Amino acid sequence: MTFENVVKKFGDLTVLNDLNFQVERGQRVTLIGPSGSGKTTILRLVMTLEELTGGYIHVDGVPLTHLERGGKRVARRHKDVAQLTRRIGMVFQQFNLFPNMTVIENIIEAPVHVLGKSKEEARARGKELLEQVGLGDKADQHPSRLSGGQQQRVAIARALAMDPEILLLDEVTSALDPELVGDVLNVLRDLAETTDITMLIVTHEMQFAQDVSDRVLMFDSGHIIEDAQPDVMFSNPTHERTKEFLRAVL
Ligand code: ADP
Repeated sequence: MTFENVVKKFGDLTVLNDLNFQVERGQRVTLIGPSGSGKTTILRLVMTLEELTGGYIHVDGVPLTHLERGGKRVARRHKDVAQLTRRIGMVFQQFNLFPNMTVIENIIEAPVHVLGKSKEEARARGKELLEQVGLGDKADQHPSRLSGGQQQRVAIARALAMDPEILLLDEVTSALDPELVGDVLNVLRDLAETTDITMLIVTHEMQFAQDVSDRVLMFDSGHIIEDAQPDVMFSNPTHERTKEFLRAVL
């Protein structure tokens, strides 16, 4: 995944200004930095939930959005882009489960309607994934009957049901009571150990970031100010701004 001269503005506010970086296949990259520095915006751009103001994001050479010659944006998604975004999963801070569906219905919705899997096949895979996240007995419950941590593990299973090559994790434990955070992070640690899914992670859980990341990017005001392996970033950062940030959060 390549970010090339990425610019994102909301009205007059420039959130990302000429951002360039690359994430290799299978890499786990954590974005850290102060609130408002543009981390979530990056994930939302990859998920095509936001439009680029300028520049490109490529996945395997396919640009996620296109700029027409002269800079005018093509409004409709390119067919390749639709194909591409199926391979990208996202888990949100607020779970975003469908409240009127059971857990298993939440999980099979996209595999059935987007990938065209049969209900039986999607259900069987969904049950496996529920076992994997420790919720094998919750398939027929509604999300409102589950704790926040359980709902978030369902959201992870739902993302995995699409067999994503890229998983975007946006502060997935920030809305949880502290005692529920551990189970969610353990599911993600297992996933990092047992799969080669590329992960782009925004988190305030620095120990988790240290455990699972191959690389940590420190953002400030929409710029990457430091790009390092986690042991270096967390124990011996170069930039004064990084030191200050880590002193405040560690
Ligand atoms: P972070 O994840 O680092 O906390 P965000 O990417 O969420 O930062 O936000 C970066 C900046 O963009 C913030 O100033 C935020 O208020 C602004 N922003 C994000 N989304 C929108 C939006 N839809 N409309 C206007 N401003 C937005």
